[in-house]
Amino acid sequence: MSVNNPTKFDRRNIIKSGFLLSLGTFLISKSQSIAGNSLNNSLNNNISDDNSQMGATSLIYPFTLPKLEYGFAALEPNIDKMTMEIHYTKHHQGYLNNLNKIIESNVSLQNLKIEEVLPKITNEKSDNGLKNNAGGHFNHTFFWNILTPKQSSKEPKGDFLNHVIKDFGSLDRLKVSFDEAAKTRFGSGWAWLVYDDNDRKLKVTSTPNQDNPLMNFSEVKGKPIMGIDVWEHAYYLKYQNKRADYITSFWNILDWSKVENNYNKATLK
Ligand code: MN
Repeated sequence: MSVNNPTKFDRRNIIKSGFLLSLGTFLISKSQSIAGNSLNNSLNNNISDDNSQMGATSLIYPFTLPKLEYGFAALEPNIDKMTMEIHYTKHHQGYLNNLNKIIESNVSLQNLKIEEVLPKITNEKSDNGLKNNAGGHFNHTFFWNILTPKQSSKEPKGDFLNHVIKDFGSLDRLKVSFDEAAKTRFGSGWAWLVYDDNDRKLKVTSTPNQDNPLMNFSEVKGKPIMGIDVWEHAYYLKYQNKRADYITSFWNILDWSKVENNYNKATLK
C-alpha cells in the first residue's frame, strides 16, 4: 500500500487498515506486557502497575521486578548507569528468582504480599534463604521507589517534618543520624528511618545483609520510611571504598514526596 497515493484508498480500505493498525498495536502491547511479566524483563518493557503500593509489578507470588520510573542513566552522576543496570537486572533479579523458587514449594506464602511475608520469617538457619531473598526483593523495591532524577530541592514539610523535628530536633539532625547509621553499618546492609507504632516514634537504625525492620527479630522494629542500600554492589564501581561520598550523594536523588507518602501510610490508623 502506498501512502503517497491516497486516491487509491477507498473508504473500506481505510477502515480496514485502521483496524489492522489498532490490532497490531494491541498485539504489540500485549506481547510487551507478557514479556514484562517474565522474570527476565528489563527496563525497556513498559509494564503497567496500577495495582501497586510500592510500585511493584506483582504484589503476590510470583513476584516480578518493579517498574522503574526512570532510566538506568537518570541518576547520574550520583549513581552511575552501569551500577544501576547491574543492581537492578542482576542483583534484584537474582533475589527475585530465588524468592520465587522458595515460595513455589511453600503454599502458605503464595497469597501474601511481600510485606506480609517479612514478619513470618525467623532468624533460624532454616529460614536463611527466605530471609535473604524476601528481604532482598522488598528492600530493593523500596529503594528504587524513593529515588528520583529530579533533584530534590523540595524538602519535606507538614506532619512528617513536624514529627522529624519532634524526634530529632531538625531535618539536619535526622540526616546526620541517618548518615552515621549508613556509614557505620559494618559490611553489607541497609540504613533506615522507620516509624515505630508502639511508641509512635521515628527511629534511625541499620540492618545487616538483606534484613529489614519489618522482620520480627530486627534490633529496631518499625515501618520503613526511608532506606539506603550500603552493600558495596550499590556504589563500588563509582565510589570504590568511599561509602561516605555515596551516602552524601543519596540526598541529591532522594524523593522527599515518596518519603512523606511512606510516612503518611505508616502512621495511618
Ligand atoms: Mn543492593
